[in-house]
Amino acid sequence: MEVIDLRSDTITRPTEKMRQVIAGAEVGDDVYGEDPSINCLEQLAAKKLGKEKALFVPSGTMANQIAAMVHTSPGDEIITEITSHIFLYEAGGLGRLGGVQTHVLQGERGLFSPEALEGAIRGENIHFPRTTLVAFENTHNRAGGRVFSPEELAPHLEICRQAGIKTHLDGARIFNAAVALDITPDLLVQDFDSVSFCLSKGLGAPVGSILCGSTDFIHEARRVRKILGGGMRQGGILAAAGIMALEEAEARLARDHRLARILAEAIEKMDNFQLEFPVESNIVVGKYLGAQKIGEVVARLKEKGLLVNAFGPSSLRLVTHQDVKEEEVYQAAEIMGSI
Ligand SMILES: *Cc1c(COP(=O)(O)O)cnc(C)c1O
Repeated sequence: MEVIDLRSDTITRPTEKMRQVIAGAEVGDDVYGEDPSINCLEQLAAKKLGKEKALFVPSGTMANQIAAMVHTSPGDEIITEITSHIFLYEAGGLGRLGGVQTHVLQGERGLFSPEALEGAIRGENIHFPRTTLVAFENTHNRAGGRVFSPEELAPHLEICRQAGIKTHLDGARIFNAAVALDITPDLLVQDFDSVSFCLSKGLGAPVGSILCGSTDFIHEARRVRKILGGGMRQGGILAAAGIMALEEAEARLARDHRLARILAEAIEKMDNFQLEFPVESNIVVGKYLGAQKIGEVVARLKEKGLLVNAFGPSSLRLVTHQDVKEEEVYQAAEIMGSI
């Protein structure tokens, strides 16, 4: 039985063409700055995002953690939304690696209000930690792939600017956000001090993420990457895949979004599921309305050839990506409706 895997856009495998690009990649020692493929990828990524410099890192988690470590000092406080990846899914790295305290704000679909942000920023007082960083996420995973326009985040960024607080954007799926809004990604990140994104999700590369920012920021980030063990020597075989992903995959993301909408429309007609969030990119969250435990639902879908992830006590997350065919999306909907 062919399995339909909608657990994540991280599961994509390199295409035959990408494997050839990997096999033919020019390489050198990147810790000496001598890997031509990594240098090329970093230049291309910085240009696409309109930042001075970029750094190739093994994962999105490392990119976010490096950003936090560069922007803050131990004992500082980071503000982020309560369902953000950097708070929920990075194994406590902010506290453990950066020695910083996290101040989480309850958001509405992934974003807190400007007033809540203003109220959370610490004043000058010897009792308080210093608020030195606010981290945002776009698209927002836990909010069902929600896309934030530049206008929606502008008031928050203005507050940070006036308070002298740095801003980081976890843009793991920033190209999905740009495609959904039909604008270039640089417009979504221009007012952030740093931005991370994943090559290994919708863009289809096997490994790697990018961290972008000013020349000074990336200089420090390169040092912190070394501290964390992320200097990768002949990493050009991975960067070559990243270059191809950046050059070619962006155009394909609109298809992923279209497939997600097909799935969403099918879920809207089901008796046993409903949509938890409007579908804005490649993530669909279905709320299960039946009597079974969500773990049993996931197991029954698996028996029928559909892999999905549980997303809380009564919800499932389904993610569209390059390795899923259009007819498989219809089959997935049929399987969901049948349990
Ligand atoms: C996947 C993801 C990350 C981390 O990426 P890894 O490469 O898996 O470490 C960070 N933020 C968001 C929003 C993500 O979806």
